[in-house]
Amino acid sequence: MASSSLFQGSPFSLKSNPSLPKSHASPTHFTIKASKHHRRPADENIRDEARRHNATHNHRLSAKYVPFNADPSSTESYSLDEIVYRSQSGGLLDVQHDMEALKKYDGEYWRSLFDSRVGKTTWPYGSGVWSKKEWVLPEIDSDDIVSAFEGNSNLFWAERYGKQFLGMSDLWVKHCGISHTGSFKDLGMTVLVSQVNRLRKMNRPVVGVGCASTGDTSAALSAYCAAAGIPAIVFLPANKISMAQLVQPIANGAFVLSIDTDFDGCMQLIREVTAELPIYLANSLNSLRLEGQKTAAIEILQQFDWEVPDWVIVPGGNLGNIYAFYKGFHMCKELGLVDRIPRLVCAQAANANPLYLYFKSGWKEFKAIRASTTFASAIQIGDPVSIDRAVYALKNSNGIVEEATEEELMDAMSQADSTGMFICPHTGVALSALTKLRNSGVIKPTDRTVVVSTAHGLKFAQSKIDYHSKNIKDMACRFANPPVQVKADFGSVMDVLKKYLLSKAPKY
Ligand SMILES: *Cc1c(COP(=O)(O)O)cnc(C)c1O
Repeated sequence: MASSSLFQGSPFSLKSNPSLPKSHASPTHFTIKASKHHRRPADENIRDEARRHNATHNHRLSAKYVPFNADPSSTESYSLDEIVYRSQSGGLLDVQHDMEALKKYDGEYWRSLFDSRVGKTTWPYGSGVWSKKEWVLPEIDSDDIVSAFEGNSNLFWAERYGKQFLGMSDLWVKHCGISHTGSFKDLGMTVLVSQVNRLRKMNRPVVGVGCASTGDTSAALSAYCAAAGIPAIVFLPANKISMAQLVQPIANGAFVLSIDTDFDGCMQLIREVTAELPIYLANSLNSLRLEGQKTAAIEILQQFDWEVPDWVIVPGGNLGNIYAFYKGFHMCKELGLVDRIPRLVCAQAANANPLYLYFKSGWKEFKAIRASTTFASAIQIGDPVSIDRAVYALKNSNGIVEEATEEELMDAMSQADSTGMFICPHTGVALSALTKLRNSGVIKPTDRTVVVSTAHGLKFAQSKIDYHSKNIKDMACRFANPPVQVKADFGSVMDVLKKYLLSKAPKY
């Protein structure tokens, strides 16, 4: 199938002669900025500009909710404009795209379209999520989108960490946490809040959006709702969250309820409340968020010029993200952008490892557990909502599950930091999983491997301070690098510096 309409009148030319697919005769089917050299008028902003271009928008693509992994005979489905979180039988939902409509365009078409949008400010394609709009929410009006131009995150070549600790030459860290609110949750939240914005414009009964969370989800929800002027309601367990976790929703003007219970208690309460009040539920049960998160997988392929890595390692808690990565990779294969998908590894904290235990049992029987405290606090979950999604993703990608103890994950984080990164404990879990798979020979020294980093290290500064001051019970903190206390006189400073320089001097 030939590439088509987008490039008509655009600054791009294709190797093959562009011709329109028969059923898509409109040259304005997808619109991008057609006038390269004309600056938009002074009284027009980028949203106005998109609106003007969209006047001729002609939707042929669509998506709907269906029960996750439904029986082929099932006809149950819902419009994305309905407010529905679960299937009739109480199971998970999934956003299903009209793949036949997408397949009218070939892989080269999609690769060129996505590549053409990177690094621009054209609304809304400057976002790493919305640059894939046709695969995310094809029917939403660009005018309804709430975006902070999230995504397009750095794929960091971990040269020194790979060489020094693993003997690897092709190791990469996808820094999803170098983002608007400091975690990959932004990728999903831009989609959820955009859809809510659309529902409100359609006068659907949504007065506010709510979630229960101790950290990254509430931060992302609060920021996107604030950007759109939509009330955000956040349920947080009292006295169980740090200042860093609390300050983001407060600063963004969310209505923060501090409730005398734990995370599970907050979750239970918000579910009961959203059943009674016109509050839209933003927890990870919501399958809209995964549509945004899956763009990180597409972005990885794009950053490798559409060459497929051998392994992708994702830290998992509620287990939505591992499925989102699978879905992104799988769509790229199904639509001909690449010819295979990477093997996926889900990495869990040993203190919160129900998926690991299930995998080790040969997928025999899943048992929810009571998760213990872990420094990787965002994955401290014993009864993951998206367990079925994760199992599906792993079985269909020849996947593996690994685990990391507290000492392993903190050591890995500290070693990575010592090579110039500043990662979060969850990324430490993923790096520990990599170390184990390297040591057992499953991952080879030359395998191209991507470790997904899920949050910014600055959000977890306290855990690093505790480690480097060797202030963690039952942990050796072998790679601690505490500051040296020194008297305020020249001689003392010279003494410690000379000792340090000698220890670092090259041996001749
Ligand atoms: C939410 C989160 C995770 C876990 O993602 P799941 O989809 O729940 O598996 C991992 N790391 C960080 C930093 C997170 O915020």
